[in-house]
Amino acid sequence: MNDQPWITERLAQAPPLGAPAPGTVILNDSKGEILDEGAATDLFAAYFGSDDTQMAVRVVASGDTLGYLSRTQALDLIELSSRGLGESIAQFLPGMSTYAPISLRCPIGGCPANPIVAATFDVMYPPRCPEHPSQPLEFVRS
Ligand SMILES: [Zn+2]
Repeated sequence: MNDQPWITERLAQAPPLGAPAPGTVILNDSKGEILDEGAATDLFAAYFGSDDTQMAVRVVASGDTLGYLSRTQALDLIELSSRGLGESIAQFLPGMSTYAPISLRCPIGGCPANPIVAATFDVMYPPRCPEHPSQPLEFVRS
């Protein structure tokens, strides 16, 4: 797995104190490649945009937890991406990349990894739950 300084420098080792249990963003595609910043930013926008109560997200790549991205850090990323394009955040949200964020879930009841957002889903090789490494994740919706 290659190092991704653009994201690792923004990650904390733990979610913010008192925050609701964070969901998960899977940072690699179905080939195991780490997403570029634009594609990853789309996932964070989808994750935080779908639930205003989420204050952080666990960032996972190939089953390993890289760290936790706070809502504040995610908004910085989204703002930086949109500024360069001369567009408003609202216009940016649909994304410029070829990936459309998809929702996955761990079917084990009460799993703290849920909700899970990813860029790709290969039904033959579904990603595994970061909390339950033997458990394949299920596709929820696109
Ligand atoms: Zn799980």
